[in-house]
Amino acid sequence: MKCLGKVAVSRDVHLLVDAEYSYVNSGCSIITLAMMAHFNQHSPVVANTFQCYFKDTWKNLNDEINISQQLGACFAAKIVRGAYLEKERCIAPENVCSSHACTGENYNKTLEVGLHHAVTAGSKRTLIIIATHNENSVISALQSLQDMGISRKDGHVVFAQIYGMGEQISMPLAHAGYIVYKSVPMGPLNQVLPYLARRVAENRSVLQGARKERELLQQELKHRMLEKLHVVNIK
Ligand SMILES: Cc1cc2nc3c(=O)[nH]c(=O)nc-3n(C[C@H](O)[C@H](O)[C@H](O)COP(=O)(O)OP(=O)(O)OC[C@H]3O[C@@H](n4cnc5c(N)ncnc54)[C@H](O)[C@@H]3O)c2cc1C
Repeated sequence: MKCLGKVAVSRDVHLLVDAEYSYVNSGCSIITLAMMAHFNQHSPVVANTFQCYFKDTWKNLNDEINISQQLGACFAAKIVRGAYLEKERCIAPENVCSSHACTGENYNKTLEVGLHHAVTAGSKRTLIIIATHNENSVISALQSLQDMGISRKDGHVVFAQIYGMGEQISMPLAHAGYIVYKSVPMGPLNQVLPYLARRVAENRSVLQGARKERELLQQELKHRMLEKLHVVNIK
């Protein structure tokens, strides 16, 4: 971890620690906070991830912000809905939001905590990554940024989507001057495949997003093919 932190600092990139299953998250958080204490003294290099399908996530985010402040470290967080819903429901259903809408409300609430910290701590000492493919969350986040006077260009509140997904969200955001990260899964096939399988499972649970993306791709293909035919006809 120390090696990774050093490389991140020397290359001026962020190191985002993913959130996993609930039974490993506390351990990951402790290690991440220790890394923040070491590497985030001058800028928010190391970030922890917060899964909003857990009812208490906004409280955990608040607690970790307070701890990072006590450590004199800059705070960084990636805010997601969470990728292991089915399994978490089996482990402790009482800890998990009861519906997709409920997780969405919790996402907004958690994000508000992060954005308030971004305003009070200032742009140099915070990084909040709004990692979602959900259009409503993005629209609501944009409204909050505007209401709180958070600049789209400072780079301390950014958006993130997975490469090849949510292009209809990433592109307009980037065109409007927001900073957008695209997460690229890479590694050996046996490690990447389970990751991609989880994304497929998510699309099954919330088909609306996948359907919309497919429709937009079909429209774009049709548009490009017709445009090409038009060019050929003119020639
Ligand atoms: C850049 C990036 C990094 C990510 N990193 C991580 C990570 O480190 N750890 C991690 O766990 N995930 C990670 N994810 C995945 C993320 O947690 C979501 O699973 C994924 O983005 C889909 O959620 P969404 O916000 O895009 O919106 P949507 O597609 O609208 O929401 C789907 C999500 O809503 C929740 N949900 C669906 N149905 C229900 C229900 N009935 N009740 C309660 N909740 C429900 C689940 O969390 C589900 O994944 C990452 C995603 C991105 C874009």
